[in-house]
Amino acid sequence: MAKMTIKDVAVAGRKVIVRVDFNVPLDAGQQIVDDTRIQAALPTIRYLLEQDAAVIIMSHLGRPKGAVVPEMSLKPVAARLGELLGRKVEMAPDCIGDQVRDMAAQLQPGQVLMLENLRFHAAEEANEPEFARELGALGDIYVNDAFGAAHRAHGSTEGITHHLSPAVSGLLMDKEITYLDETLKNPSRPFVAILGGAKIAGDKKNPGKIEVIQNLMDKVDALLIGGGMAYTFYKAMGLEIGNSLLEENSIPTARSVMDNAERQGVELLLSVDCVVADKFAADARTQVVPREQIPAGWEGLDIGPQTRRLFTDKIATARTIAWNGPLGVFEMDAFAHGTLEIGRAVAAASDQGAISIIGGGDTAAAIAQAGLAERMTHISTGGGASLECMGGRVLPGVAALTEKE
Ligand code: ADP
Ligand code: MG
Repeated sequence: MAKMTIKDVAVAGRKVIVRVDFNVPLDAGQQIVDDTRIQAALPTIRYLLEQDAAVIIMSHLGRPKGAVVPEMSLKPVAARLGELLGRKVEMAPDCIGDQVRDMAAQLQPGQVLMLENLRFHAAEEANEPEFARELGALGDIYVNDAFGAAHRAHGSTEGITHHLSPAVSGLLMDKEITYLDETLKNPSRPFVAILGGAKIAGDKKNPGKIEVIQNLMDKVDALLIGGGMAYTFYKAMGLEIGNSLLEENSIPTARSVMDNAERQGVELLLSVDCVVADKFAADARTQVVPREQIPAGWEGLDIGPQTRRLFTDKIATARTIAWNGPLGVFEMDAFAHGTLEIGRAVAAASDQGAISIIGGGDTAAAIAQAGLAERMTHISTGGGASLECMGGRVLPGVAALTEKE
């Protein structure tokens, strides 16, 4: 069920409309703070230009909620893209309408046109057919390289595919699908998953870690659980957790995860010791305790040394590793040791040929901060989208792409 990619279509002389995720952080003066997302789409854009396509780029930026918000214009992004490509990037005044249609019609092979913020129109998020049809009318071929937006069925990610064929993945999207979908469904064994972070339960819009745990439970050989969510598991085991993070409503969920692991013969390794603090602060007093001895009034903010050893030993045996969620409050140095040591273990396993797949915005940030990013096989660029993918959900923006023959 592989999706067509830009390598499967002849793009020379065609107008290719590319959905990218250029939702970059801007400062108060509309300067780009971090251009990682622009860099990530360059291989696809460069490939299309080398193949002599005319390239139309579209993206959202921020949450303008259907109104024109000048501070959320993509103009500075077009300028930066032009610098990175070393060629002029024409900026359109809007993403639909007569003027944009004319600009697109006149675009020549090798030229780049950037449409204005898609979310200046409420029709984008509402996925209104007429809006999607107008977007589709601008090009001959649709490319989606915006994995981070693929979990939402919007005009530019789903609607447009009803008006333009073929709809293919860009190089970044293809890599995301390869690892987060195909590899996770068909992993080399042993397959070890590491789950940490904060929220077990999901809400209306976002899946919690529970979906990831349940989906991976059917596939993994071992499941390692640490981070803030571990304390709800401790509570389910009848332990006292002091002031540690507790998700009261998820206690039955935690219990059923432990039961399922036992029934399915999955090795469940739950953190066995923790670094506890007398307050949630970088300068808190700390001590290491076994999970059975968390003192009243203290809270667990990192995994302890025994857990680090338990986890790193297991990681060293893996051929495939999926990781989502930091193992402690890594934003504070005092509670970053667990996440760092696990990061080094995953990097070392990857050096030895294991496939490592990292999902989640905070996990990716922790790995980048530790300087380990280059050694991982794949770090997903999509926060929510990667979580949904790891949770086994079908992303509407991926499902909408044309299947390979
Ligand atoms: P991701 O973005 O990678 O999916 P999450 O958002 O689920 O990860 O979790 C990250 C957050 O979890 C971080 O802000 C981290 O500080 C927090 N966290 C990790 N361990 C603990 C803990 N023991 N107590 C409280 N918060 C924690
Ligand atoms: Mg997060």
